[in-house]
Amino acid sequence: MSAAAPWRLFLAIWPTPGIADALNAWARTAQVECGGRVTLAANIHLTLAFLGDISPERVPRLADCVRRAGGSGHVLALQEARYWKHNRVVWAGPREIPAALAALAGALERELVAAGFATEVREFNAHVTLLRMARLPRSLPSLPSLPWQVNELVLVRSQLSSTGSSYAVLARFPLA
Ligand code: ATP
Ligand code: MG
Repeated sequence: MSAAAPWRLFLAIWPTPGIADALNAWARTAQVECGGRVTLAANIHLTLAFLGDISPERVPRLADCVRRAGGSGHVLALQEARYWKHNRVVWAGPREIPAALAALAGALERELVAAGFATEVREFNAHVTLLRMARLPRSLPSLPSLPWQVNELVLVRSQLSSTGSSYAVLARFPLA
């Protein structure tokens, strides 16, 4: 019997609809300045660990890693809006990564590596992509105050297509 086709997986935190809508509205105002494609409100997220192609049979093992990493709830303030030239993305992120978020990303990486996941681990860079294919902006509008209460981690499957990625949440992991 052949093995199941792999799934493209990542672990992320997902904002509430209120915060996602506010970020999407901000991105539409930024778009006036720099063009590009605005991330759909429902797709807005912050990736903590990218797994890439994983056999679905390994999902229970992956879930064990996430539970072992633990982690605590915290507030994430997105205060900085930036542009990355290399991939033409406009993103928002915290001025300083909350200690609880950095600890969670670090613990996840350790657990994933120990279990044989994540052969290529990119350095954690807390960012929320809000516009793709954007031009270099002269300036970006300031972000509204958005205290994002981080209460859980989600395991997501991404399916790529010519119209963009679609995401499906496979599991939720509450933070203490
Ligand atoms: P698109 O590829 O259509 O622009 P996307 O990048 O959001 O959409 P995926 O490529 O499936 O969709 O990526 C899912 C998430 O994982 C995104 O947050 C993306 O930034 C992140 N990601 C993708 N590849 C890597 C990687 N090699 N290392 C770290 N994070 C990654
Ligand atoms: Mg991608």
